[in-house]
Order: sequence, then C-alpha cells, then structure tokens
Amino acid sequence: MTVERAAEMLATARHGVALTGAGVSAESGIPTFRGEGGLWTKYDPVKVSSIDSFMADPTSYWRVSKERGSVALAARPNPGHLALARMEAAGHLVAVVTQNTDGLHQDSGSRRVIELHGSGRTVQCLECGTREARAKVQARLEVEMPPRCPICGSIFLKPTVVLFGEPMPVAAINEAYELARQADVMLVVGSSLVVYPAAEVPLVAVRSGARMIVVNAEPTPFDSFAEVVILGRSGEVLPEIASLING
Ligand code: NAD
Ligand code: ZN
Repeated sequence: MTVERAAEMLATARHGVALTGAGVSAESGIPTFRGEGGLWTKYDPVKVSSIDSFMADPTSYWRVSKERGSVALAARPNPGHLALARMEAAGHLVAVVTQNTDGLHQDSGSRRVIELHGSGRTVQCLECGTREARAKVQARLEVEMPPRCPICGSIFLKPTVVLFGEPMPVAAINEAYELARQADVMLVVGSSLVVYPAAEVPLVAVRSGARMIVVNAEPTPFDSFAEVVILGRSGEVLPEIASLING
C-alpha cells in the first residue's frame, strides 16, 4: 500500500522536507487557484493579482482581496496541517516550504516554515514602509476602500504577498533550494507543481538523490519522478501517514 510505503520512507528520513501548495488549505475552506473549484475559473489572475493592476487600481484589487481575506483570516488549520506539524516535532521533517500565504502551517505548530510567496497576514505601505496586521486592515475595509496608510495616507497598501510581476523573496528561495539539496525524502502536498520556481524545489531534491512522495487530489507533471504518488485529500492522507509512522 502506498500510504504504508510513504510512512516507511518518512519514518527513516534524516532530512525530510515538505513542499505544500494551496491544496493543503482547501479543507480549511480556502479555495485553490487551479483545479476543481479553483479561483482562476472565476477570475483572470493577471487582472486581479499583478503588481501592475494593483498600482493602476488598488480599489479593484482590494474588492477581491476583501472577500478572500475574510475567508483566509477565519480559516483554521485542518488535520493535514496538523499532521505535518506532528511529523516535524517527531523529527521526520526538518521544514515545510510553502507556496501558501495563509499562515496556517505556523498556526498548526510547524516551527520552520519557508514562505515562497510571502505572507497575507501583513500589509505594507509601498510609500513609507509601515507594516500593519492584515486583520487590522481587514476591519477598516468596511468603511475605507481602498484602505489608506495610517502614517502617510497613501492608498498603496499591499499585502506582503508576491504578486505577478514582483520579484520572489531571494532569501526564502535560497533556503528552499538548500533544504531540497540536503533532503533525503521530499513530501509534496497539494500543489499543481506548475508555478516556478516553487515547482523546481522537488526537482532539485530528486536530482540531489531524494526520494519523492506526492499527495495531491489530481496527477501532477512530476509524478513520474516520485516513488510514491497518493491521489487523495491531504486532510485525510497525511493524518493516516502520521499515525502509521507513530505506530
Ligand atoms: P494550485 O491552486 O495551483 O494547485 C492546488 C493543487 O491542490 C491542485 O493540483 C489540486 O488538485 C490540489 N488539491 C485541491 N484540494 C486538495 C486537497 N484537499 N488535498 C490535496 N490536494 C488538493 O496551488 P499551488 O500549486 O499552490 O499554486 C498556486 C499559487 O496560489 C501559489 O503560489 C500560492 O501562493 C497561491 N495560493 C495560496 C493560497 C493559500 O495561501 N491558501 C490559496 C490559493 C492560492
Ligand atoms: Zn505610508
């Protein structure tokens, strides 16, 4: 059975690394971008999530972000996040590299989380650099659209997430590649593996000799590089793996 094999691989891992995508948070009620019910079946990503469109029209950006933010801020970790935190605490994973911006890995108790696309929990003024908690800005959206910087009054307040057309956070990318190079087991969860450079992380791991496990609701382009592919929901599969490891 594939679940047993995945558990065996992680139980003996000395440097296990997880890479997670939007799928790991789907069971927390946060819609994915791609795949069934994905947000991009509703929105044009470049229109709503690029730095150019944000700069041209912050109000339109915040209209969409207001709706998504209220869902993300209310979301709680699901059994998939919790299983990853347990695996880290037990020494079977050294880190979680994530494409997600929702902060749910940290909420679930994961200690070393590398955020490749930034964090949606903070908002920054592009004019003066002031940072505020997203929850605080979210509360203002009812009366202020677009929200303004409390210090300089600028309308260019942007969540600290990486939008299309923005550079990736170099330190996080380098840390992810370094973890991948050292990995002996690479556990990929809930990612369509089509967004670069995040999709490159498991490839670097495999090229450096890691054995790969993929847990995803649908096949990914890199399944052929994996020793174990489990098609399923991460909130169900990961707790099964974690409990098999712990006997
Ligand atoms: P994606 O949306 O491209 O792909 C998600 C994948 O997860 C799909 O292949 C889908 O089949 C699978 N999936 C859906 N539900 C699942 C479940 N319950 N269990 C296991 N797999 C499931 O996500 P991505 O590859 O992470 O890339 C999209 C980008 O969108 C990321 O860069 C990320 O920054 C951003 N994003 C983040 C969030 C979040 O923070 N929660 C949500 C949406 C998008
Ligand atoms: Zn400001």
